[in-house]
Amino acid sequence: MEILDGKKISQEIKEEIKQAVGLRKEKGQKIPHLAAILVGNDGASLTYVGSKVRSCEQVGFKSTLIRLESSITEQALLSKIKELNNDDTLDGYIVQLPLPKHIDEEKILLAVDPKKDVDGFHPSNFGRMALEMDSFIPATPFGIMEMLRRNEIDISGKHCVVIGRSHIVGRPISILMSQKGKPGNATVTLAHSRTQNIKELTQKADIIVSALGIPEFLKADMVKEGVIVIDVGITRVSDASHPKGYVIKGDVAFDEVAKKSSYITPVPGGVGPMTIAMLLQNTLLSCERKSVS
Ligand code: NAP
Repeated sequence: MEILDGKKISQEIKEEIKQAVGLRKEKGQKIPHLAAILVGNDGASLTYVGSKVRSCEQVGFKSTLIRLESSITEQALLSKIKELNNDDTLDGYIVQLPLPKHIDEEKILLAVDPKKDVDGFHPSNFGRMALEMDSFIPATPFGIMEMLRRNEIDISGKHCVVIGRSHIVGRPISILMSQKGKPGNATVTLAHSRTQNIKELTQKADIIVSALGIPEFLKADMVKEGVIVIDVGITRVSDASHPKGYVIKGDVAFDEVAKKSSYITPVPGGVGPMTIAMLLQNTLLSCERKSVS
Protein backbone atom coordinates (compact mmCIF):
# COMPACT_ATOMS: atom_id res chain seq x y z
CA MET A 1 0.00 0.00 0.00
CA GLU A 2 1.24 3.44 -0.93
CA ILE A 3 -0.04 6.68 0.54
CA LEU A 4 -0.75 9.40 -2.01
CA ASP A 5 0.81 12.30 -0.14
CA GLY A 6 -1.11 15.37 -1.24
CA LYS A 7 0.84 17.57 1.12
CA LYS A 8 4.15 16.64 -0.52
CA ILE A 9 2.87 16.86 -4.12
CA SER A 10 1.17 20.18 -3.44
CA GLN A 11 4.47 21.54 -2.06
CA GLU A 12 6.20 20.49 -5.29
CA ILE A 13 3.53 22.24 -7.36
CA LYS A 14 3.78 25.36 -5.19
CA GLU A 15 7.55 25.34 -5.63
CA GLU A 16 7.11 25.20 -9.43
CA ILE A 17 4.61 28.07 -9.28
CA LYS A 18 6.97 30.08 -7.08
CA GLN A 19 9.72 29.63 -9.66
CA ALA A 20 7.40 30.70 -12.47
CA VAL A 21 6.48 33.82 -10.47
CA GLY A 22 10.18 34.51 -9.88
CA LEU A 23 10.82 34.32 -13.63
CA ARG A 24 7.94 36.67 -14.33
CA LYS A 25 9.37 39.13 -11.80
CA GLU A 26 12.81 38.96 -13.44
CA LYS A 27 11.26 39.71 -16.82
CA GLY A 28 9.29 42.63 -15.35
CA GLN A 29 5.99 40.84 -16.03
CA LYS A 30 2.84 41.06 -13.95
CA ILE A 31 2.70 39.13 -10.66
CA PRO A 32 -0.42 36.92 -10.41
CA HIS A 33 -3.13 38.41 -8.21
CA LEU A 34 -5.90 36.34 -6.60
CA ALA A 35 -8.79 37.75 -4.58
CA ALA A 36 -11.22 35.92 -2.34
CA ILE A 37 -14.64 37.09 -1.24
CA LEU A 38 -15.71 35.75 2.14
CA VAL A 39 -19.24 36.52 3.30
CA GLY A 40 -19.91 36.06 7.02
CA ASN A 41 -17.97 34.22 9.71
CA ASP A 42 -18.40 30.50 9.04
CA GLY A 43 -15.54 28.71 10.85
CA ALA A 44 -14.66 26.23 8.10
CA SER A 45 -14.84 28.92 5.40
CA LEU A 46 -12.52 31.16 7.43
CA THR A 47 -10.02 28.29 7.68
CA TYR A 48 -10.19 27.52 3.93
CA VAL A 49 -9.85 31.14 2.85
CA GLY A 50 -7.05 31.67 5.38
CA SER A 51 -5.00 28.83 3.89
CA LYS A 52 -5.66 30.07 0.34
CA VAL A 53 -4.33 33.53 1.27
CA ARG A 54 -1.28 32.04 3.06
CA SER A 55 -0.56 29.85 0.02
CA CYS A 56 -0.64 32.94 -2.23
CA GLU A 57 1.99 34.52 -0.02
CA GLN A 58 4.13 31.34 -0.14
CA VAL A 59 4.33 31.38 -3.95
CA GLY A 60 4.77 35.16 -4.27
CA PHE A 61 1.29 36.01 -5.58
CA LYS A 62 -0.50 39.16 -4.60
CA SER A 63 -3.68 38.32 -2.69
CA THR A 64 -6.67 40.33 -1.55
CA LEU A 65 -9.20 39.13 0.99
CA ILE A 66 -12.57 40.85 0.80
CA ARG A 67 -14.65 40.24 3.91
CA LEU A 68 -18.31 41.13 3.78
CA GLU A 69 -21.03 41.06 6.45
CA SER A 70 -23.39 38.06 6.34
CA SER A 71 -26.25 40.59 6.12
CA ILE A 72 -25.03 41.89 2.74
CA THR A 73 -27.80 42.02 0.12
CA GLU A 74 -27.60 39.97 -3.06
CA GLN A 75 -27.55 43.22 -5.06
CA ALA A 76 -24.58 44.60 -3.08
CA LEU A 77 -22.67 41.35 -3.57
CA LEU A 78 -23.41 41.44 -7.31
CA SER A 79 -22.06 45.02 -7.42
CA LYS A 80 -18.87 43.85 -5.71
CA ILE A 81 -18.52 41.09 -8.29
CA LYS A 82 -18.97 43.58 -11.12
CA GLU A 83 -16.20 45.65 -9.54
CA LEU A 84 -13.85 42.64 -9.46
CA ASN A 85 -14.75 41.71 -13.06
CA ASN A 86 -13.66 45.21 -14.12
CA ASP A 87 -10.49 45.27 -12.03
CA ASP A 88 -7.63 44.76 -14.48
CA THR A 89 -5.11 44.12 -11.70
CA LEU A 90 -6.92 40.87 -10.78
CA ASP A 91 -6.18 37.60 -12.58
CA GLY A 92 -8.80 35.62 -10.75
CA TYR A 93 -11.06 35.57 -7.76
CA ILE A 94 -13.16 33.13 -5.81
CA VAL A 95 -16.42 33.47 -3.92
CA GLN A 96 -16.11 31.20 -0.90
CA LEU A 97 -19.14 28.94 -0.55
CA PRO A 98 -21.55 28.44 1.11
CA LEU A 99 -23.20 31.86 0.93
CA PRO A 100 -25.90 32.98 3.38
CA LYS A 101 -29.34 31.52 2.66
CA HIS A 102 -30.84 34.82 1.40
CA ILE A 103 -28.31 34.95 -1.47
CA ASP A 104 -28.88 32.94 -4.65
CA GLU A 105 -25.56 31.13 -5.17
CA GLU A 106 -26.33 30.36 -8.80
CA LYS A 107 -26.94 34.03 -9.58
CA ILE A 108 -23.62 34.95 -7.99
CA LEU A 109 -21.60 32.25 -9.78
CA LEU A 110 -23.16 33.26 -13.11
CA ALA A 111 -22.04 36.86 -12.53
CA VAL A 112 -18.36 35.91 -12.25
CA ASP A 113 -16.38 36.70 -15.42
CA PRO A 114 -15.42 33.24 -16.80
CA LYS A 115 -11.94 34.61 -17.56
CA LYS A 116 -11.44 35.24 -13.83
CA ASP A 117 -13.33 32.15 -12.65
CA VAL A 118 -10.29 30.30 -11.27
CA ASP A 119 -12.60 28.00 -9.28
CA GLY A 120 -13.97 26.75 -12.62
CA PHE A 121 -17.58 26.90 -11.39
CA HIS A 122 -19.04 29.06 -14.20
CA PRO A 123 -21.12 27.08 -16.76
CA SER A 124 -18.90 28.40 -19.52
CA ASN A 125 -15.82 26.81 -17.92
CA PHE A 126 -17.70 23.66 -16.95
CA GLY A 127 -19.02 23.25 -20.50
CA ARG A 128 -15.60 23.86 -22.03
CA MET A 129 -14.08 21.32 -19.64
CA ALA A 130 -16.72 18.73 -20.62
CA LEU A 131 -15.93 19.38 -24.30
CA GLU A 132 -12.19 18.99 -23.67
CA MET A 133 -11.52 22.63 -24.55
CA ASP A 134 -9.19 25.04 -22.69
CA SER A 135 -10.90 26.08 -19.46
CA PHE A 136 -10.41 26.48 -15.76
CA ILE A 137 -10.90 23.02 -14.27
CA PRO A 138 -12.44 23.07 -10.77
CA ALA A 139 -9.57 22.85 -8.31
CA THR A 140 -10.50 19.66 -6.44
CA PRO A 141 -10.98 17.39 -9.50
CA PHE A 142 -7.97 19.09 -11.13
CA GLY A 143 -5.96 18.22 -7.99
CA ILE A 144 -7.06 14.57 -8.11
CA MET A 145 -6.08 14.26 -11.78
CA GLU A 146 -2.73 15.91 -11.09
CA MET A 147 -2.11 13.56 -8.18
CA LEU A 148 -2.76 10.55 -10.42
CA ARG A 149 -0.58 12.01 -13.20
CA ARG A 150 2.38 12.76 -10.96
CA ASN A 151 2.24 9.28 -9.44
CA GLU A 152 1.99 7.76 -12.94
CA ILE A 153 -1.17 5.91 -11.98
CA ASP A 154 -2.73 4.54 -15.14
CA ILE A 155 -6.53 4.58 -15.00
CA SER A 156 -7.07 3.70 -18.67
CA GLY A 157 -9.69 0.97 -19.08
CA LYS A 158 -10.13 0.71 -15.31
CA HIS A 159 -13.51 0.78 -13.62
CA CYS A 160 -13.86 3.89 -11.49
CA VAL A 161 -16.74 4.45 -9.08
CA VAL A 162 -17.29 8.07 -8.06
CA ILE A 163 -19.53 8.51 -5.03
CA GLY A 164 -21.25 11.92 -5.04
CA ARG A 165 -22.48 14.00 -7.99
CA SER A 166 -21.90 17.58 -6.80
CA HIS A 167 -21.08 20.22 -9.40
CA ILE A 168 -17.73 20.95 -7.77
CA VAL A 169 -16.36 17.44 -7.18
CA GLY A 170 -18.27 14.29 -8.14
CA ARG A 171 -19.65 15.26 -11.53
CA PRO A 172 -16.54 16.99 -12.89
CA ILE A 173 -14.18 14.21 -11.74
CA SER A 174 -16.46 11.64 -13.39
CA ILE A 175 -16.16 13.60 -16.66
CA LEU A 176 -12.39 14.08 -16.41
CA MET A 177 -11.64 10.43 -15.64
CA SER A 178 -13.69 9.23 -18.61
CA GLN A 179 -12.10 11.68 -21.07
CA LYS A 180 -9.45 10.72 -23.55
CA GLY A 181 -6.03 11.56 -22.17
CA LYS A 182 -3.49 10.63 -19.58
CA PRO A 183 -4.77 10.14 -16.96
CA GLY A 184 -8.13 9.31 -18.51
CA ASN A 185 -10.01 6.66 -20.48
CA ALA A 186 -11.51 5.14 -17.34
CA THR A 187 -14.94 3.52 -17.37
CA VAL A 188 -16.85 5.57 -14.84
CA THR A 189 -19.88 4.85 -12.70
CA LEU A 190 -21.32 7.89 -10.90
CA ALA A 191 -23.10 6.95 -7.68
CA HIS A 192 -25.27 9.18 -5.47
CA SER A 193 -27.82 8.99 -2.69
CA ARG A 194 -30.39 7.24 -4.91
CA THR A 195 -27.95 4.58 -6.11
CA GLN A 196 -29.02 1.10 -5.10
CA ASN A 197 -26.62 -1.55 -3.81
CA ILE A 198 -23.64 0.79 -3.78
CA LYS A 199 -21.54 -1.88 -2.09
CA GLU A 200 -21.90 -4.14 -5.14
CA LEU A 201 -20.49 -1.35 -7.30
CA THR A 202 -17.61 -0.39 -5.02
CA GLN A 203 -16.61 -4.02 -4.52
CA LYS A 204 -15.96 -4.27 -8.28
CA ALA A 205 -14.19 -0.91 -8.60
CA ASP A 206 -10.51 -0.56 -9.48
CA ILE A 207 -10.64 3.07 -8.36
CA ILE A 208 -13.01 4.74 -5.91
CA VAL A 209 -13.37 8.50 -5.56
CA SER A 210 -15.43 9.20 -2.48
CA ALA A 211 -17.01 12.67 -2.30
CA LEU A 212 -20.17 12.42 -0.25
CA GLY A 213 -19.27 13.95 3.11
CA ILE A 214 -20.23 11.06 5.40
CA PRO A 215 -17.36 10.22 7.79
CA GLU A 216 -15.95 6.71 7.33
CA PHE A 217 -18.70 5.71 4.90
CA LEU A 218 -16.42 3.46 2.85
CA LYS A 219 -15.51 0.35 4.84
CA ALA A 220 -13.09 -2.49 4.09
CA ASP A 221 -15.87 -4.93 3.14
CA MET A 222 -16.95 -2.53 0.37
CA VAL A 223 -13.67 -2.66 -1.58
CA LYS A 224 -11.59 -5.27 -3.36
CA GLU A 225 -7.89 -6.02 -2.85
CA GLY A 226 -5.59 -3.62 -4.69
CA VAL A 227 -8.17 -0.82 -5.03
CA ILE A 228 -7.06 2.80 -5.49
CA VAL A 229 -8.92 5.06 -3.08
CA ILE A 230 -9.24 8.84 -3.36
CA ASP A 231 -10.94 10.31 -0.31
CA VAL A 232 -12.32 13.80 -0.92
CA GLY A 233 -14.50 14.01 2.20
CA ILE A 234 -13.77 16.56 4.89
CA THR A 235 -16.14 16.52 7.85
CA ARG A 236 -15.64 18.11 11.25
CA VAL A 237 -16.59 15.55 13.88
CA SER A 238 -16.99 16.71 17.50
CA ASP A 239 -14.25 15.41 19.78
CA ALA A 240 -14.00 16.88 23.26
CA SER A 241 -10.56 15.33 23.77
CA HIS A 242 -9.13 17.45 20.96
CA PRO A 243 -8.00 21.04 21.72
CA LYS A 244 -10.12 22.37 18.82
CA GLY A 245 -13.16 20.39 20.01
CA TYR A 246 -13.35 18.51 16.71
CA VAL A 247 -11.35 16.25 14.40
CA ILE A 248 -11.38 16.14 10.61
CA LYS A 249 -12.67 12.89 9.12
CA GLY A 250 -12.69 11.68 5.55
CA ASP A 251 -15.31 9.51 3.83
CA VAL A 252 -13.11 6.44 4.18
CA ALA A 253 -12.45 4.24 7.22
CA PHE A 254 -8.76 4.75 6.52
CA ASP A 255 -7.08 2.13 8.73
CA GLU A 256 -9.15 -0.81 7.51
CA VAL A 257 -9.44 0.26 3.84
CA ALA A 258 -5.71 1.10 3.57
CA LYS A 259 -4.86 -2.56 4.26
CA LYS A 260 -6.62 -3.61 1.03
CA SER A 261 -5.56 -0.64 -1.12
CA SER A 262 -2.70 -0.27 -3.58
CA TYR A 263 -2.89 3.53 -3.24
CA ILE A 264 -4.90 5.66 -0.83
CA THR A 265 -5.15 9.35 0.06
CA PRO A 266 -5.17 10.31 3.74
CA VAL A 267 -7.44 12.93 5.34
CA PRO A 268 -6.08 15.42 6.15
CA GLY A 269 -3.05 15.68 3.86
CA GLY A 270 -4.51 14.17 0.68
CA VAL A 271 -6.89 15.90 -1.70
CA GLY A 272 -7.27 19.05 0.47
CA PRO A 273 -3.78 20.53 -0.11
CA MET A 274 -3.97 19.57 -3.81
CA THR A 275 -7.12 21.68 -4.15
CA ILE A 276 -5.31 24.81 -2.97
CA ALA A 277 -2.28 24.13 -5.19
CA MET A 278 -4.51 23.83 -8.28
CA LEU A 279 -6.33 27.05 -7.42
CA LEU A 280 -2.92 28.75 -7.53
CA GLN A 281 -2.14 26.93 -10.78
CA ASN A 282 -5.37 28.25 -12.33
CA THR A 283 -4.50 31.79 -11.20
CA LEU A 284 -1.04 31.57 -12.74
CA LEU A 285 -2.64 30.22 -15.94
CA SER A 286 -5.06 33.15 -16.02
CA CYS A 287 -2.19 35.61 -15.60
CA GLU A 288 -0.19 33.90 -18.37
CA ARG A 289 -3.20 33.86 -20.72
CA LYS A 290 -3.63 37.60 -20.20
CA SER A 291 0.05 38.18 -20.97
CA VAL A 292 -0.23 36.51 -24.39
CA SER A 293 -3.64 37.91 -25.37
P1 NAP B 1 -22.39 17.72 -1.66
O1 NAP B 1 -22.67 18.84 -2.59
O2 NAP B 1 -23.02 17.70 -0.32
O3 NAP B 1 -22.73 16.36 -2.43
C1 NAP B 1 -22.70 15.14 -1.78
C2 NAP B 1 -23.03 14.06 -2.77
O4 NAP B 1 -22.99 12.82 -2.08
C3 NAP B 1 -24.41 14.20 -3.41
O5 NAP B 1 -24.34 13.94 -4.77
C4 NAP B 1 -25.24 13.13 -2.68
O6 NAP B 1 -26.24 12.55 -3.50
C5 NAP B 1 -24.18 12.10 -2.39
N1 NAP B 1 -24.55 11.28 -1.24
C6 NAP B 1 -25.01 11.67 -0.03
N2 NAP B 1 -25.26 10.60 0.77
C7 NAP B 1 -24.98 9.52 0.03
C8 NAP B 1 -25.04 8.12 0.27
N3 NAP B 1 -25.44 7.64 1.46
N4 NAP B 1 -24.65 7.28 -0.71
C9 NAP B 1 -24.23 7.74 -1.90
N5 NAP B 1 -24.17 9.07 -2.20
C10 NAP B 1 -24.52 9.93 -1.25
O7 NAP B 1 -20.85 17.54 -1.38
P2 NAP B 1 -19.50 18.11 -2.06
O8 NAP B 1 -19.51 19.57 -2.04
O9 NAP B 1 -19.19 17.37 -3.31
O10 NAP B 1 -18.48 17.59 -0.94
C11 NAP B 1 -18.36 16.23 -0.59
C12 NAP B 1 -17.34 16.11 0.52
O11 NAP B 1 -16.09 16.56 0.02
C13 NAP B 1 -17.62 16.98 1.74
O12 NAP B 1 -17.13 16.32 2.88
C14 NAP B 1 -16.77 18.23 1.49
O13 NAP B 1 -16.40 18.89 2.68
C15 NAP B 1 -15.58 17.62 0.82
N6 NAP B 1 -14.84 18.52 -0.06
C16 NAP B 1 -13.50 18.46 0.03
C17 NAP B 1 -12.72 19.23 -0.80
C18 NAP B 1 -11.23 19.13 -0.70
O14 NAP B 1 -10.54 20.02 -1.12
N7 NAP B 1 -10.72 18.02 -0.17
C19 NAP B 1 -13.32 20.08 -1.74
C20 NAP B 1 -14.71 20.09 -1.83
C21 NAP B 1 -15.48 19.29 -1.00
P3 NAP B 1 -27.50 13.38 -4.07
O15 NAP B 1 -26.96 14.16 -5.23
O16 NAP B 1 -28.45 12.33 -4.49
O17 NAP B 1 -27.98 14.25 -2.96
